[in-house]
Amino acid sequence: MRKWLVSCLLLCLFVSLALPASATEKAIRHDDKQFVYMTFDDGPRPETLLLLDVLKKHQVKATFFILGKQIKGNEDVLKRIIAEGHAIGLHSMTHDKKAFFKTPKSAVTEMKHVQQLIFQTTGVKTNVIRVPYGSVPHMTKPHRDAMAKAGFLMWDWNVDSLDWKRKDDPRLLQFDTIQKVRANRARQVASVVLMHDQSTSAASLDYILRHLKREQYVFTTITDTTPPYNFYNKWNTNTSRK
Ligand SMILES: [Zn+2]
Repeated sequence: MRKWLVSCLLLCLFVSLALPASATEKAIRHDDKQFVYMTFDDGPRPETLLLLDVLKKHQVKATFFILGKQIKGNEDVLKRIIAEGHAIGLHSMTHDKKAFFKTPKSAVTEMKHVQQLIFQTTGVKTNVIRVPYGSVPHMTKPHRDAMAKAGFLMWDWNVDSLDWKRKDDPRLLQFDTIQKVRANRARQVASVVLMHDQSTSAASLDYILRHLKREQYVFTTITDTTPPYNFYNKWNTNTSRK
């Protein structure tokens, strides 16, 4: 009987160790509230204004990962994001996979460039980053080390709305995103939701926020002081990682 109990405990220990990122993910739920981090990539663009209107309507603060090449001509959009209390992250200058990930140095240089541009335009400096296409599988260990050395805090996501490919299927986008957030809550994990600055996402955002607010989720932003400071896509175990 005791032997059975020991093997059972060992099995439980093995299973809990084998689950990827559980510790990291648990850390993003830093008290008893059900946190959701809404994040938007690839702005600022004119479409960002639609998202801002929806966020204002629901009194939700979000995090916008800014693309350096989009700033010129959209300075007022960037300023409005900040004026309305949202957080800013860095999302590279080029969004060009080959150029950005070429070397650890090229990745850091691009992030520093967009960091500087945002500072010049708004006076805001952030160290929060999201690399183009996420950290899996492109960020090698030398890339991650170089980012950390430069003081950057890397954030992926754990709810992909797939809004870029579900433009014609808003129902699927909305239901699937809400389901993924609920599934995270069932695992006692906060949700970092990935969406993009595009007009079709704004209508879906309205639906998603209305439903999640009804379910008492708490919306908050990612800043330099948000634990666990780096949040990698470690749950993606199907992808080989370097
Ligand atoms: Zn992007």
